[in-house]
Amino acid sequence: MKVYSFPRGGLTFYDNTAPEKKTAVNAFLPSFSVITLGDNVRKVYPVVSIGENVREGMLIGRASGSGTGAVNVHSTVPGRIIRRISWRDSFDINNDAYIIKMEGAFEKLGRKEDIFLWNGLSGYDLQRIISENGITEMENFGKPLSEMISAARKEENLTLVVRCVFDDPWLVADYAMCKDRLKAVILGASIVAKACLKVSRILIAVSYPERELGQMLRSEADRQGVPSSMVLTSSRYPQRNKRELELTLRKYEKKEELNLGSFLILGPAVLAAAYDAVVHKKPILERYVAVGGAAIRHPQIMKVRIGTRISEVIAQCGGFSEKPECIITGSPISGKEVMFLDEPVGKTCYAIAALSKSQGAHHKLQNCINCGECRTVCPVGLDPQMIFKRIKAMEIDNILTTGCHGCGCCKIVCPSSIPLRETIIESNQEAFGA
Ligand code: SF4
Ligand code: SF4
Repeated sequence: MKVYSFPRGGLTFYDNTAPEKKTAVNAFLPSFSVITLGDNVRKVYPVVSIGENVREGMLIGRASGSGTGAVNVHSTVPGRIIRRISWRDSFDINNDAYIIKMEGAFEKLGRKEDIFLWNGLSGYDLQRIISENGITEMENFGKPLSEMISAARKEENLTLVVRCVFDDPWLVADYAMCKDRLKAVILGASIVAKACLKVSRILIAVSYPERELGQMLRSEADRQGVPSSMVLTSSRYPQRNKRELELTLRKYEKKEELNLGSFLILGPAVLAAAYDAVVHKKPILERYVAVGGAAIRHPQIMKVRIGTRISEVIAQCGGFSEKPECIITGSPISGKEVMFLDEPVGKTCYAIAALSKSQGAHHKLQNCINCGECRTVCPVGLDPQMIFKRIKAMEIDNILTTGCHGCGCCKIVCPSSIPLRETIIESNQEAFGA
């Protein structure tokens, strides 16, 4: 089978401090959970008060309305709400949360799950259930799936892409989840396709080294009677970025003489969550998380309850082997720096990386040596060195930076540790209020 790729730039991203591709282990249930209610941008209104008892999976916060980026929030453990807290994260966003003390019996964990038949439901019913259960993309900023479905319905010809593209070793938890939950991923894709109303085909995009997983998904799709096809992509970073994946799929479309129309690209974690919401009437209660970095004693993939504090997860990996330089949620290239170890694992947290001094983002900055590496790897064709210089000289023309999608290839290769990606992104945010 032919392997497709994006036209230029990119790099092979290795990191032997990320956990290996092994089965996930269950993390302990947290005695105290921190359930994020929303932030100053995405408003969520609490529907329970301090002192009230809550059940596992119970609605505790309602999103302020559609099109806001906010989603309903549910308790992930049974217990009592004991406090409300807030903190400012590394993106300068103010987060609000309830602290829940675990008490009482679990209604879902360890019990036989109810199965609800969904074939007779309309696309609008499926979307409502997905919305009620607060299903989001389980990466980046956690875009609500219901909003993505509404946008996708406007397209006349739509391909739902199941993105099993692993171009970053820190995505290993999603790989493990996908392998554990083939049926949920495939039926989740079928549910979302029905909710979108006009999906013409389901296309499973798989990076070449994971082609065996792709075959397993295809076999499962055949078993479940879900029509699908598969395309192999490269694993060159940033192959899974929306822009690069779309460019790759257009090549496939041309070669195979297809008409794929527009794309709705979703990862396996959000599809499995859509399945749980519709088939088991269950919100997102846990997340597969890759915990590693040179400062972690025993890197591993863990199944973690949403709301578990990062400090507890790290303790279950044997703690720190040395004082970390910084801790990141998500990939070290594009993730968010953790400000406090009591921050919780949220729906979008697919990795926790505790970086050692030699790995950390705060290397000693050196002067540019004009090696040109940053230009070579930029998949958009920008000149990061020149943009950086102009930003620093306060003479930047904003148009120069609009193509940057923050992949961080330039940052990885720069021998002088110049913060090219961060500087360009910050400049974009200031210029466009992004
Ligand atoms: S972060 Fe921006 S400038 Fe740097 S390689 Fe990626 S797209 Fe290019
Ligand atoms: S990679 Fe770094 S040192 Fe090399 S040209 Fe770009 S900014 Fe300069």
